[in-house]
Amino acid sequence: MICCTECFQDVEVKSHIKDLKNKGNCYTCGCKNVFIYDTETNHLLTTWFEEFISIFTPVDALPLNFPRADLSLLKDELHDNWNIFNLEKEIIYKLITVICEERYRSNPELFDAPIGIPKSQQASYLQSNSLLKTYNWEDFVEAIKTQNRFHTDHLNEEVLQLFCSYVKKTYKAGSIFYRARVSDKEGWSVDKMSAPPPALASAGRANPEGISHLYLSNDVTTTLKEVRAGAHDYVTVGKFELIQDMDIVDLTAIDRISAFSDLDNTQHATNKRHLQKINREIAKPLRRQDSALDYLPTQYIVDFIKSIKTTEGTREYDGIEYDSTMNKSEGGFNITVFDEKLFKCTELSVIQIIELTYRPSRIVWDSVQ
Ligand SMILES: [Zn+2]
Repeated sequence: MICCTECFQDVEVKSHIKDLKNKGNCYTCGCKNVFIYDTETNHLLTTWFEEFISIFTPVDALPLNFPRADLSLLKDELHDNWNIFNLEKEIIYKLITVICEERYRSNPELFDAPIGIPKSQQASYLQSNSLLKTYNWEDFVEAIKTQNRFHTDHLNEEVLQLFCSYVKKTYKAGSIFYRARVSDKEGWSVDKMSAPPPALASAGRANPEGISHLYLSNDVTTTLKEVRAGAHDYVTVGKFELIQDMDIVDLTAIDRISAFSDLDNTQHATNKRHLQKINREIAKPLRRQDSALDYLPTQYIVDFIKSIKTTEGTREYDGIEYDSTMNKSEGGFNITVFDEKLFKCTELSVIQIIELTYRPSRIVWDSVQ
């Protein structure tokens, strides 16, 4: 069976197929003149996938009390939780059974029956390997809101630190980001465009009240949507230039770490849902009806990331990156920078919002008699 770079999303797989330097037409996804992988003659993916799927156990071999809700089919697991393929479930199934042909012959239930991860139910394993130990996200939220705010026992900080190290991203000096503030026609002066002074810093998902961080977006449209500028509002937009290289934790990628990285596969899989939760929670827009308590879980995580030190005792990460829920469809993202002095505002512009576009969800009409 022939597959190609376009059949996959995983960077490690794509890069391996490219390295084979074999171009042709792909009969799996239909792409023409692309780098291809022939399962007849190439074998590395067999090793990779066999190792990866070996963390799963078919239902018949699982303990009887294994929760039914934590079972899934391999094709669903691969499609829904791991950004490995760019293909539909049925085609993933076909391809994976060809790539792992021998395993499919000897152990078909791994591919066809519900599967689970035995260790995901073992308290002693979770205690040291899971981000939230034996808890789930809701337990963590409840505990931080109502029990211990500053010293939670629910978060496994070593594990969080490990995952952060896999999504470290460097921005070079000279990188440009944007920040907007609704203003009047005259606009704000440059001193009003940076992070607010600590006394005026209100709580957000990445900072508690009184601790000031600089929030920036990757482009002008995203920053306008983030401040929720209204029709006919005047908005001052600042262009911010990074003055020295900085390292951040890219939370947009924390649930997309390659299944073929050197992370332990079982630990990675056990933490997948927690990583997805962190990515989603940090990107959630603030709503007027939110209580300041709603921001505590992500504030705690960001505060921990801010506290991670290098071996020299300096700050390991200068900030975090996360999706802009307000402009995700256009690739918008935000960064929160712990030290605003890393950026200088180089240009300002006052613009007026001419028109807002409303895009409704799918409309389902109910007929009325
Ligand atoms: Zn393809």
